[in-house]
Amino acid sequence: MACGMICLHGVSKSYGGVRAVHEARLCVERGEFVALLGPSGCGKTTLLRLIAGFEEPDAGEIRLHDATVAASGNWTPPERRRVGMVFQDYALFPHLTVAENVGFGLRRRERATRVPIVLALVDLCGLGGRYPHELSGGQQQRVALARALAPGPELILLDEPWSNIDPHLRSSMRDELARILRAINVTVVLVTHDREEAFSLADRVALMRDGTVVQEGTPEQIYLEPATRWAAEFVGAGNFLPGRLADGIVATHVGRFAALNPNGATDVEVLIRPELLELEPDPAGGAEVIGREFRGHDVFYRVLLDGVELVSQRPSNELVALGERVNVRPHASRVTVFS
Ligand code: ADP
Ligand code: MG
Repeated sequence: MACGMICLHGVSKSYGGVRAVHEARLCVERGEFVALLGPSGCGKTTLLRLIAGFEEPDAGEIRLHDATVAASGNWTPPERRRVGMVFQDYALFPHLTVAENVGFGLRRRERATRVPIVLALVDLCGLGGRYPHELSGGQQQRVALARALAPGPELILLDEPWSNIDPHLRSSMRDELARILRAINVTVVLVTHDREEAFSLADRVALMRDGTVVQEGTPEQIYLEPATRWAAEFVGAGNFLPGRLADGIVATHVGRFAALNPNGATDVEVLIRPELLELEPDPAGGAEVIGREFRGHDVFYRVLLDGVELVSQRPSNELVALGERVNVRPHASRVTVFS
């Protein structure tokens, strides 16, 4: 079997009666940054722990760096997998200094050389003598990352790294972490339930539901061509409208669109993302603005057209008032259809 950095086949793991991971498959190439995206409880952490070797699968095969590390009869313990993991709560040792935390898994001889290098990499020079409680949340996270990077792994696994960070600090921390990881060219799997985080950071997104990977693709593919209605709704708001498909063109009551994925069916459901519906103020317009959420960079509208509620997202220079009559103008673009 051809294999990149990570290859999972039919991997399952249950706890008692709970199926945490079920027949999951995933391939990650060397140097890729992949986000494992899914709702809380869908098995993301368990899948990461299976890859790292903190859990043993009930079934299936896990290959890393082209070697089988878990399958019937095969087992490689975590310390021999060349994988670094950053846990959701960072799991720093509170009674050890920053330098001792970072050097924890290293041999004595390596410590003197590796610890200063990785502390510099994560921009924590000079803080090696501090204890974790003397650091900010963001600094603790960088210590956890430095510890994971210290042995020089080829693969880094990150479990919801920003869940304990103030929302207003997250985006700058994301940039910082992405910069560090890209600079050393390591393969990354990031677990998150936040679609923006996944879309903004990852080369490729693996969408997970009920213990299994249901779709893999670039952020653009996942957003624009979701495989199912569930996937479409999980990664963004949308209008789901009945349509009739013929010759690659789908007709809906808001307009005609080229179908991205014509599938042979004639009666279909169409996904139209809210940014593709423009609103044109017109006292004689067929639709009415019934909801309006101003969000600074854009405005989210709910409009009622022929008894059907639609959502539209417009830049904040195109303001329309609540209660105003409008025409709904679909943006010319290709849309996804579901049978
Ligand atoms: P996620 O990280 O996507 O939120 P998890 O992998 O933590 O999901 O959990 C998947 C499912 O497995 C959940 O229903 C969770 O309660 C269950 N689970 C995870 N770890 C254990 C465990 N050690 N013992 C029992 N159930 C667990
Ligand atoms: Mg989790």
